[in-house]
Amino acid sequence: MTEKPDDIVKSRMYARQQLIDGWDQEVINDGVIMIIGVGALGCEIAKDFALMGIKKLILVDLDTIETSNLSRQMLFRPGDEGRAKAEVAAERLLEMNPYLKVDYYFEKLQKLPMAVYEEADIVVGALDNFNARLDLNKICLRIKKPMVEGATHAFEGHVQIVIPEGSGLQYKNKEREIENLVQTRLWETTEMEYPEYFAAQKRIEELEEEIETIKAEKITPLIQKFRKEIEMVFDWKYAPELLDLTPCYRCLVPIPPADDKLVAACTLKGLPRNRNHCVIKAEVEFEKRYGHKPDLNLNDEVVKLKEIAQGEFEKLRERVFNENVPSEKRETLSEEELEEWKLNIKETFGPDYKFEEMENILGNKIAAIQTVSSVIASIQSQEALKLLFRVNGRNIGAPMDPPYVNYNGIYGQFDHLNIIKRDDCLACGKIEGEENVQIVVPFDADVGYIFEAMKITGYELDPELWMITNPMTKEIYWNPYMPSLKDPNIKLTSLKIKSNDVISLTPLGKALTESEIKKYNVIITFM
Ligand SMILES: [Zn+2]
Repeated sequence: MTEKPDDIVKSRMYARQQLIDGWDQEVINDGVIMIIGVGALGCEIAKDFALMGIKKLILVDLDTIETSNLSRQMLFRPGDEGRAKAEVAAERLLEMNPYLKVDYYFEKLQKLPMAVYEEADIVVGALDNFNARLDLNKICLRIKKPMVEGATHAFEGHVQIVIPEGSGLQYKNKEREIENLVQTRLWETTEMEYPEYFAAQKRIEELEEEIETIKAEKITPLIQKFRKEIEMVFDWKYAPELLDLTPCYRCLVPIPPADDKLVAACTLKGLPRNRNHCVIKAEVEFEKRYGHKPDLNLNDEVVKLKEIAQGEFEKLRERVFNENVPSEKRETLSEEELEEWKLNIKETFGPDYKFEEMENILGNKIAAIQTVSSVIASIQSQEALKLLFRVNGRNIGAPMDPPYVNYNGIYGQFDHLNIIKRDDCLACGKIEGEENVQIVVPFDADVGYIFEAMKITGYELDPELWMITNPMTKEIYWNPYMPSLKDPNIKLTSLKIKSNDVISLTPLGKALTESEIKKYNVIITFM
């Protein structure tokens, strides 16, 4: 093993953001961000980049810390009053990320040498006054540096991106620009030039007028009639359901996603079939060898685990090679062709493991990044704040409506989704005693394994007290009271159960009275 302990810690720090498609940590590792103004915005932005692992931050601020700053400038603490903001921020950022470099200037932005600006890849304006913004803008335009300017005021804020001419960045979308120019050209045409175009526009206007007339005569009166009817009964008939509650979380997830531990359990019954399986198998192998699960915070355990996983991975590659190129075929192939096969297999299953990848697989981690976390966290705080006022009988604004917002950080777009409260929701709906579950089973699973899979998914059912049936045909697959239907070794495939078929589990005897759930609708997925 050639990895230095420091490298292991460093790559582990950024493991989650590396799960994001297209992410390249090297870009961040080599980046320099200059932040002008280390106030509320500057603190947040500096913290974001420090956490993400930027190589260097350049902080500029000519202010000292005041007590009133402590309510929102999260890098400063009581006792810092009177010290230079840029200097204290640098200290705190280095505590957060010891691999970071920070240059700081307790200085007017206008007085900084241009070389300081030149070093930055991107300049971020987080200033609190108009004149400083104008000066920073001028500097960035002169040295052709892209700038991201931001400001907030009470509950509002703006972000403006400034890309100067000659920065080397392409900002606009060519197709969209062509379309804009086409539209401008259309506006500039005259009736003399293109009489047909104008005639067509006029005709469209006439048609639109006609549509309006039809609406006013035939559609609006009916709408008004219905409106009156609904208004009369709204308060007692609709208000309790519509005004004072939202769909619940479970309304959006009728079927809980398959449990990964279950997938893992399946893997261990068979041979690993992908790179994730190899790591899961390695974890079990580690436990067998050393008597405990690997502690991913201990570097030597990570190194040992990686060795085992790598061994499994190489066996997987070899197995696939032998399957695809059986020995009789091997004799007909040249050295180069054999090498090509091996290379193909390597590409299919990906490169050797990195430690942070193993942690992501075993912990079933989800890709995450600080920038998006900030946006979402801030929206959550803002909604919680409004609700807090509301529960105290005060109003600083209505809660989000629709109650669900999706933020896409790639397009900078917020989309509100009109989610619907489900009457058949297992949490807030009117149906009681039913639960939808998805289980994952190996291809060769038998009826007995259904109970095992349910247990791993969190539903421990006594096979002696539950019956398994096909909800469509009512065929009985398992009935502990009937000897002829009590063979746990019958394969699901021989019962003609296919992947994603649904089966029902219903209670018998004691379970009939004791179980809160009267029916499990179980989707069986083969892996
Ligand atoms: Zn619900």
